[in-house]
Amino acid sequence: MTTNTEEVLEKKSLNFVEEMIEKDLKEGKNGGRIQTRFPPEPNGYLHIGHAKAICMDFGAAQKYGGVCNLRLDDTNPVKEDTEYVEAIKEDIKWLGFEWGNIYHASDYFQQLWDFAVRLIKEGKAYIDEQTSEEIAAQKGTPTQPGTDSPYRNRPIEENLELFNKMNSGEAEEGSMVLRAKLDMASPNMHFRDPIIYRIINKEHHRTGNKWKAYPMYDFAHGQSDYFEGVTHSICTLEFVPHRPLYDHFIDELKEGKDLDDNRPRQIEFNRLNLTYTVMSKRKLLALVKEGLVQGWDDPRMPTICGYRRRGYSPESIRKFIDMIGYTKFDALNDMAMLEAAVREDLNLRATRVSAVLDPIKLIITNYPEGQVEEMEAVNNPENLDEGTHTIEFSRELWIERDDFMEDAPKKYFRLTPGNEVRLKNAYIVKCTGCKKDEQGNVVEVYCEYDPESKSGMPGADRKVKGTLHWLSCGHCLPAEVRLYDRLFSVENPSADERDFRELLNPDSLKILTNCYVEKYLATKKPLDYLQFQRIGYFTMDKDATAEHLIFNKTVGLKDTWSKKNK
Ligand code: ATP
Ligand code: MG
Repeated sequence: MTTNTEEVLEKKSLNFVEEMIEKDLKEGKNGGRIQTRFPPEPNGYLHIGHAKAICMDFGAAQKYGGVCNLRLDDTNPVKEDTEYVEAIKEDIKWLGFEWGNIYHASDYFQQLWDFAVRLIKEGKAYIDEQTSEEIAAQKGTPTQPGTDSPYRNRPIEENLELFNKMNSGEAEEGSMVLRAKLDMASPNMHFRDPIIYRIINKEHHRTGNKWKAYPMYDFAHGQSDYFEGVTHSICTLEFVPHRPLYDHFIDELKEGKDLDDNRPRQIEFNRLNLTYTVMSKRKLLALVKEGLVQGWDDPRMPTICGYRRRGYSPESIRKFIDMIGYTKFDALNDMAMLEAAVREDLNLRATRVSAVLDPIKLIITNYPEGQVEEMEAVNNPENLDEGTHTIEFSRELWIERDDFMEDAPKKYFRLTPGNEVRLKNAYIVKCTGCKKDEQGNVVEVYCEYDPESKSGMPGADRKVKGTLHWLSCGHCLPAEVRLYDRLFSVENPSADERDFRELLNPDSLKILTNCYVEKYLATKKPLDYLQFQRIGYFTMDKDATAEHLIFNKTVGLKDTWSKKNK
């Protein structure tokens, strides 16, 4: 049952695309059918920008009881590969969506060819043998009409013969194109006799060598939507000026019949752009090919697989996309907002464990040598149903180097001679001093524990300001920890005049090889969500083995320590 206010709230939270869909539904368009598609070109891995399109395309279909199909927009064999197809499917599933059917634009090559032949026969398309430079030079400007190609009025028979040669291999790549004969004076540049077919001499990953003439995006996309029965073809804003051409080719295809009925409608929303990274597949591919990152799933990459390997949850990515919303204006989205969404989500999911990334030894001088206690650690204070695990405590512990300071300022509430701290899940200890090497570096820290102060005992009530994490030296595991920072050192690399390679952050990866983690982590597997207490969220890397544990930092915690103690 929905109350009035709930209804109002729900209406208010509709984005503009949903509003348009609801209007279409109300008007009974397409017989109440909703069908969308997600149309990636399999020429790279999906990035978080694609996730925004996925949430829209699949989300709208889900919300209105429709279907969203996956269409691989494989009309350019030069850059496409089945490796990418498999990765695309995996990423969509990981984000939590399911497609109805899988279609390929290449499935329509014959239909598109037949349509192009029909246009030629109707005098609506011609073969142009000029170079691409010549064609571009004749395009004119938005305020100046273009110039007709000298081939514009060549006989239909000749056009048909040459079009066949474009596909048979008799015509060389680049020697000719098929153009739609539209309007060289149109204020919409896309109508100035757009190229609709070009020759590509490369084997296609699905159709092999059957075709050498390949349709251009504008001649394939709308028609594919129509062939499949798409009702709402949702895409990004750069396609706004293409929309009239999209509609035009569908009108032609339908030969004037049922123009308002059962036809796809293109709707555009703003792209996702993130600070300190790039979304262009061309640039991401260059980073991978040139070894500037360690692959498409490098945890610094803005790819879905990169975020997955880094420990992001699919829910956190969806939450972020919800937060930024869908508008009609392009913007640059703040990476800090994505990180906030991840923190908020992982706070609910992550298992709390202890890890020491920069270890120094803490010796509890009054704790019996050889004694070991099993302490209880809560797995997730946000969800007590997740239970507890045990962590061993003994006389010699690892703590973080910066949790001790010999001459500390007043507000330093960690270990400094004379000061008391709580060791998480264990005892209160009082710092008694340290040992230094010849260079004056601290090599060991000493303390005494209060046996009555174990967590849960009456003596544990005493107020101490700092709580430190620790690991028992004899009961922990060595590990490698990889810390990541922003991939680029400038906020908007795409707007920078310098080559994007020059803008990479040289400190985007820091590898710590001398870390320790709880033994309990041996029971975890890659992609499990973890929180290293007081440090941040982490996950085990896919390359980790029992002998060589590796953890990736997902995102830091807010600096609660300094906040609490100010
Ligand atoms: P590139 O130009 O870098 O190759 P693309 O936009 O051509 O990327 P496609 O594989 O064609 O990549 O994209 C598939 C779908 O994802 C399209 O509908 C496209 O509009 C959408 N998309 C791509 N990038 C973004 C983005 N940054 N934000 C939102 N949607 C995006
Ligand atoms: Mg594209």
